[in-house]
Amino acid sequence: MNLKYKSTRSADKTVTASEAILKGLADDGGLFVPEYIPKLDVSMDELKSMSYQETAYAVMKQFLTDFTEEELKHCIDRAYDSKFDTEVIAPLVKVGDTYHLELFHGATIAFKDMALSILPHLLTTAAKKNHVTNEIVILTATSGDTGKAALAGFADVPGTKIIVFYPKGGVSRVQELQMVTQKGSNTSVVAIHGNFDNAQSGVKAIFEDKELEKELAEAGYQFSSANSINIGRLVPQVVYYVYAYAKLLENGEITSGEEINVTVPTGNFGNILAAYYAKQMGVPIAKLICASNENKVLFDFFQTGIYNKNREFILTSSPSMDILISSNLERLIYAIAGQDAEKNSGLMAQLRETGAYEITAEMRDKLSDFAGGFATEKETAETIRATYERTGYVMDTHTAVAACVCAQYRKDHADGRKCLVASTASPYKFIHSVMTAIDAKYADTDEFELVDELSRISGTDIPKAIEEIRNADIRHTAECDADQMKATVKEILGV
Ligand SMILES: *Cc1c(COP(=O)(O)O)cnc(C)c1O
Repeated sequence: MNLKYKSTRSADKTVTASEAILKGLADDGGLFVPEYIPKLDVSMDELKSMSYQETAYAVMKQFLTDFTEEELKHCIDRAYDSKFDTEVIAPLVKVGDTYHLELFHGATIAFKDMALSILPHLLTTAAKKNHVTNEIVILTATSGDTGKAALAGFADVPGTKIIVFYPKGGVSRVQELQMVTQKGSNTSVVAIHGNFDNAQSGVKAIFEDKELEKELAEAGYQFSSANSINIGRLVPQVVYYVYAYAKLLENGEITSGEEINVTVPTGNFGNILAAYYAKQMGVPIAKLICASNENKVLFDFFQTGIYNKNREFILTSSPSMDILISSNLERLIYAIAGQDAEKNSGLMAQLRETGAYEITAEMRDKLSDFAGGFATEKETAETIRATYERTGYVMDTHTAVAACVCAQYRKDHADGRKCLVASTASPYKFIHSVMTAIDAKYADTDEFELVDELSRISGTDIPKAIEEIRNADIRHTAECDADQMKATVKEILGV
């Protein structure tokens, strides 16, 4: 059976998985979704003994049905290799009474590597399959982690160029250094004067610009997206939830069929949506707990059924979650609207025009798989400190938001299920906030001095990604205003 993909905004047209990956965003501005979520066709008993790569194949072949076995395995083998600092790729660590699924062992030490180490291979394979001869230009808006992971994934990949926009002052020092030192003759990095939502809206507007598309085609280019709106990012993320459940089973932490809860630190809603897909594939997940920082637009949404981005944008210590427009939520809205593209488009138009929309009572009823919570800056820091003091484990700020919300959920609901926390970044990546949370005396210490200190107190090795930027040359210094993004892209491409 060939699984087809549709836009969340129009019912008529279907595309193949490879076409959906190539395009990134549908022509009507909608997001591609599979016509249905496929079920796993291997048992948990079989999955238990599988490697990460084998699990990836078992999951991804169900979604990407127009890739051959050889193509898909080739992509998987090139993605999940020694770029990761552990053979298990995504280790599970028991911290107190929760299980942390560490998704930060890839090249850029944040969970974006889980998908962005494979996306370039999926995309170049998709281009070949569809006889694309244009050079593919990856345009990406980043709140910090996607940018670097996409740059690392696409650097010097033949037939591609990558342009990354990030909010000046809106990312951590390590994140910025990681991006501006990026090597590769096909990479460009631009700081915009604005926040992440400005960057993301700018990129979306460029994608929707038909005239520009024509101009580019004449020059031999076509755009694609490495943002989590690309289905080629979402599908690889489903893998680690299947893998984590199978490993919990293998390690005897849970019994066959036992339901677990999953807490995900959420920004653009990509990671938690992947967990939702994993559940629909057949993984026994009870609640999907959506953890927000002080930009708690999603918490309010789950609470009230009203999505309202009209509020102050808060810069927090978990910058990769400083987002007011969670793009991937559109895929959930479409699903709970009964795959009604018209209804979904109407709500998205309201969001564009007024910054808010309200879902119907009937749609709200379909959200029972989800729970929302949020952590304040103080609670986040407190979670890092208390966990370190109790267990010696040091977690990053994003993970701490989830760990805090997970604990709140346990306390507020009589729910004894075991809980998996998606651990999305290495503490080295957000080191200043992490170390200050542990002890205020670090507030004025240089970030790179803190690296050695963190290694000492946590007994962990300094990741290669950090060593690399210590002495690297700055290669990218471009800046522009948010309304100059299109002109900047044209200038970079020389069209
Ligand atoms: C991107 C990111 C998130 C948010 O993930 P979404 O898929 O956008 O919800 C959380 N934590 C870290 C460290 C990230 O890089």
